[in-house]
Amino acid sequence: MNQPSNRQIVLAARPNGNAAPGDFNLVTRPMPSPAEGEVLIRNMLISLDPYQRNLMGNASSELPPIDIGQPMPGPTVAVVEQSRNRDFAVGDQVVSWSGWQEYALSNGADLQKIDAGRAPLSSALGVLGHTGLTAWVGINKFLDPKPGGTFVVTAAAGSVGSIAAQLAKLRGHRVVGVAGGADKVRYLKEELGLDEAIDYKAPDFAAQLANALPNGLDTLFDNVGGHMFEALMPYFNMHAQIVVCGTIAQYGFPGAAEGPNRLPDLLKAFLYRFIVIRGFALPDHFDSFPAFLAEVAPLVAQGKIKFREDVVVGFENIPDAFLKLFDGRNNGKLIARIAVPERAAP
Ligand code: NAP
Repeated sequence: MNQPSNRQIVLAARPNGNAAPGDFNLVTRPMPSPAEGEVLIRNMLISLDPYQRNLMGNASSELPPIDIGQPMPGPTVAVVEQSRNRDFAVGDQVVSWSGWQEYALSNGADLQKIDAGRAPLSSALGVLGHTGLTAWVGINKFLDPKPGGTFVVTAAAGSVGSIAAQLAKLRGHRVVGVAGGADKVRYLKEELGLDEAIDYKAPDFAAQLANALPNGLDTLFDNVGGHMFEALMPYFNMHAQIVVCGTIAQYGFPGAAEGPNRLPDLLKAFLYRFIVIRGFALPDHFDSFPAFLAEVAPLVAQGKIKFREDVVVGFENIPDAFLKLFDGRNNGKLIARIAVPERAAP
């Protein structure tokens, strides 16, 4: 008789540059069994996120890398399959941080119950989960621009960027989104209603930028860094505010960038244009979740904040899907669906 087992995707090698399929291994381990106080959860939806590249090592991040052989960590939506913890019942649907595996044990400390009636379960990993929260925290806690100025968002068609752009619009700014490709530009203008959208992959990117920023930029929500930040530097206005949310262009490239050193120009801009630039990391702001949800969940329910999700089906397809984040083939929040619950709460 077959023993029940647990498939995991583990780190097989530290990447050089962007991640590659060979950097992961799919392994089969024995099914874990909960001790007193623990629950066994079954993952249904697994979130694929750019920071996971940083956890693989040889990256630009200051996060310590995980060990070779360890399952890739990250958020999931799961259902409780067995419970020896009085706070959780079989069938409860939860957000967990159990990563790229089918089953996991938890003592409950990392689990957050989902209000299943509020929105599709998958939104707990995106617009009403950590990526929506990231956009909200960046805007609410790290920027304080006057309404009416020009607010630029990079990777604007992505999970964080699309929410940041819509929140900025709702706060009365003129919002310009930057993204890769004509489809994403169309989505930003026609479906999200941004004032301008620019395709950084188009040959006339520089001209598009100049047209969209005739009066410079007052606020920047940057998800990309590197080449994108450099292209935007000449447009920083006096007292511009910048939040560096992510530098995805650089995650796989920890060394000094090739090309001319623009650091002196950057320092000059900070000094003479009185620029404020701040970075942040979401784990320091999880306590903002209730305030975020109180504002954003009604906006989503009313259709004032739109979102899209890119759902890949099948556990074994996770590594290939993950790579889409780094060349822009994802269209919205990237999620792997690996199971449909048999015993979900009604
Ligand atoms: P996402 O935007 O849905 O997907 C990543 C997007 O980045 C891709 O679709 C691609 O969009 C763009 N991209 C990738 N490589 C690029 C490059 N070399 N140049 C320009 N654009 C590139 O992913 P997300 O989860 O919402 O994350 C967005 C950013 O937020 C990431 O930098 C992430 O690390 C950051 N983040 C930060 C925190 C925090 O705590 N500070 C928390 C969550 C996320 P295009 O098709 O437009 O190129």
